[in-house]
Amino acid sequence: MSAENRLQIIQGDICQLDVDAIVNAANSSLLGGGGVDGAIHRAAGPELVNECRDLHGCKTGNAKITAGYNLPARHVIHTVGPVWDGGVYDEDALLLSCYRRSCELMREHQLSSIAFPCVSTGIYGFPIERACRIALGELLAQLSAHASIERIICCCFSRYDHEIYDRTLEELRDNNAAE
Ligand code: ADP
Repeated sequence: MSAENRLQIIQGDICQLDVDAIVNAANSSLLGGGGVDGAIHRAAGPELVNECRDLHGCKTGNAKITAGYNLPARHVIHTVGPVWDGGVYDEDALLLSCYRRSCELMREHQLSSIAFPCVSTGIYGFPIERACRIALGELLAQLSAHASIERIICCCFSRYDHEIYDRTLEELRDNNAAE
């Protein structure tokens, strides 16, 4: 199957997805926070934070894996996105690295399906259109390079984000067709 056919864009709550791994937009402490991080910890139960304590945090742009506990997902990949600060502090490269490292971890653990939230675009303030182009570009590249990845879901929380993802994917498709 082509890379595009293995990429799905949906609107919903990532905590409800039955996949090998869901990605958490965590903060560097890995000890929980607001937004999707809080929702994942609430749904997974207190054992998740216990395992996270042993990971001793995570650097921006990197990712670490735990079990999924009470979630339908088997694992949680915690990645730390950059806080948007005008775009001159390597935010683009750090965000791309979150997607890349998460996919690397999934492959290291022989997982085949993964769901991502819109990392950094909530409390961390990364502009959604720009983040979306980075996310979709990298995820399509990962799918093309690695046949072991069966399914990647971009799980948008709002209808607004979902529309941006759909539109951006169309644009990328048109650009590829024109090349
Ligand atoms: P960050 O600190 O990386 O910006 P946030 O959790 O504030 O992380 O926001 C990241 C994205 O996750 C936002 O698009 C937000 O709307 C979304 N989000 C919040 N809760 C959920 C959820 N339960 N499922 C999927 N996405 C969610």
